[in-house]
Amino acid sequence: MLLKQYVKFICQSRWITCLKNNSIGQLDYLKSIVDSDKIDWKYKDKKTIIKYLDEICTHIADSCSPVTEVTINKIKESYTLLEWNAKYTEILRKNGECMNCHQLLSRLKLSNEEFESLQHNVKEKLIVGSDLFLKSTPDELETFLKFVEKTAPYDVVLDALNIAYVAKTTFKDKLYLLSYAVDYFAERELKILVLGRKHMLKWGQQSWRSISKKSFTFFTDNLTQDDPYFITAAILSGSHTDFVSRDLLRGHRFVLKQDKLRNIFQRWQWQHQWKLFSTRRGLKIQSPLKFTPCAQKNNGVWHIPYEAANASAEGKVNDGVPDCATWLCMQPNSKLKS
Ligand SMILES: [Zn+2]
Repeated sequence: MLLKQYVKFICQSRWITCLKNNSIGQLDYLKSIVDSDKIDWKYKDKKTIIKYLDEICTHIADSCSPVTEVTINKIKESYTLLEWNAKYTEILRKNGECMNCHQLLSRLKLSNEEFESLQHNVKEKLIVGSDLFLKSTPDELETFLKFVEKTAPYDVVLDALNIAYVAKTTFKDKLYLLSYAVDYFAERELKILVLGRKHMLKWGQQSWRSISKKSFTFFTDNLTQDDPYFITAAILSGSHTDFVSRDLLRGHRFVLKQDKLRNIFQRWQWQHQWKLFSTRRGLKIQSPLKFTPCAQKNNGVWHIPYEAANASAEGKVNDGVPDCATWLCMQPNSKLKS
């Protein structure tokens, strides 16, 4: 395929429409190159095209969500035409290793600026009114904020009700789970906040006494429903604070409407969320992901996640992490080990 035709192919391909609006300028520019007869393609080598494709991949990385299978096929096709080595691959969940090139994907931390914008958003929402954000009384909200101000920063915030309900049996078992999580972090000499509901206090005084010796505790009213107190506490606490909950925090209402913020929130979640599981072999505490499951370029190699056309909704809903089995790994041929 001639280079010029090739660029035209890229520009006209439907997959471009899958990308977000802010890449339009770049795509227009690509089209203008194709339409210009002044360009002597002999001197426009593959590098130019690779540069544009690279920009498109960067855009996908910035948007931090998997592309469709149609899109990924087009990208693979494009890079293969340019003699790159493009292969579908799987990323190991435990450490972020690519099964094709064996590179470890990076953990992309939030910049200070990004975290501040998240924190600012939470603070703003708290001021606007408790009805919209935390479903609680103004008194409770004020008590909570004073408490956080006095006791933060924490290393880790525990969503007590969520942790306790991993046990489906007795209150004693539920408290055992919570104590297990508190002990896990207390042994590591971390500053802990346990956020629970008032009714949980009736589950067993002795356990609570023990828990409160190792952590700060705060209890909201029983009427408070699914409210993100623990997210609020963790975000107000500071950029290093982790949290423990199996809650997926999907589409949280305070970030729902802004793409950029939702993206930052998602990355914050991946970076800081611990989970407790009950397995056949006993309790297991899962640390946050060691890599960011977004498209990324490391040492000249692109890794891009995509959603398989036949992917079951179930797989994705399970833990809120893109499928580790559907990624594309692409590297220039020069990088191949012979
Ligand atoms: Zn790879």
